[in-house]
Amino acid sequence: MSTAPGGEAPVLRMESVRKTFGDSVVLRDIGLEVAPHTVTALIGASGSGKSTLLRCANLLEEIDDGAIWLDGEEITDPRADQDAVRRRIGVVFQAYNLFPHMTVLDNITLAPRRVHGVVRAEAEERARGLLERLGLADKADAYPDRLSGGQQQRAAIVRALAVRPRLLLLDEITAALDPELVGEVLNVVRDLKDEGMTMVLATHEMGFARDVADQVCFLDGGVVLERGTAEQVFGDPRQERTRRFLRRIV
Ligand code: ADP
Ligand code: MG
Repeated sequence: MSTAPGGEAPVLRMESVRKTFGDSVVLRDIGLEVAPHTVTALIGASGSGKSTLLRCANLLEEIDDGAIWLDGEEITDPRADQDAVRRRIGVVFQAYNLFPHMTVLDNITLAPRRVHGVVRAEAEERARGLLERLGLADKADAYPDRLSGGQQQRAAIVRALAVRPRLLLLDEITAALDPELVGEVLNVVRDLKDEGMTMVLATHEMGFARDVADQVCFLDGGVVLERGTAEQVFGDPRQERTRRFLRRIV
């Protein structure tokens, strides 16, 4: 089993992952290693496979070939306990993360109580602590539609954190927000990084990716065409296609 440069085993590892939908090959030969306490940014044009990669990592999609490990355990092994794996991974999507008919607090305590068996009082105490940290203490009893888009995404992050995940997957969590609300959500991700959370995020926010990511993967047509530090990929891309993409988007 390979290890990250620091010597610690990767939190997430993908090897030769292939994913098809019917005749179309959406991911081909994907290799990825995510070291503990690091941030990996997936960048690339729409349709390049970023969301599919994240969905495969969380076993929301079944892969056609290759293998995926979480903390050294092969989670794509047919004998792996998929529910147990998903309990160790937090996910936040672009939008519609919260259940509209439940208060913010109930949204956040649902999984810890139902899936992890945490008693209500403890789940609520933890939830309130997290809401406080993310500046949402006064929103605990509100319904999602009373929150701004930025507040909703912050609450969605709290919900993902409430189960104390080993890994957080964030799929374009600012893409549906008004520009003035993007910063507050990205700041939360920065804070989580400072606290040592391991994250993989798909993003179109190149300035943010450059700033926060330890590792950047440029996806193109379902392959990781280029991978490196943020400095390398943004500052001195090796591939012409990466250059073209960055010229277009930055
Ligand atoms: P990205 O997140 O980079 O925009 P996606 O992972 O969403 O890319 O999509 C990659 C490709 O896979 C696209 O061509 C998309 O149309 C296709 N795709 C994604 N999900 C499905 C699906 N459930 N069925 C068929 N094709 C899909
Ligand atoms: Mg996507």
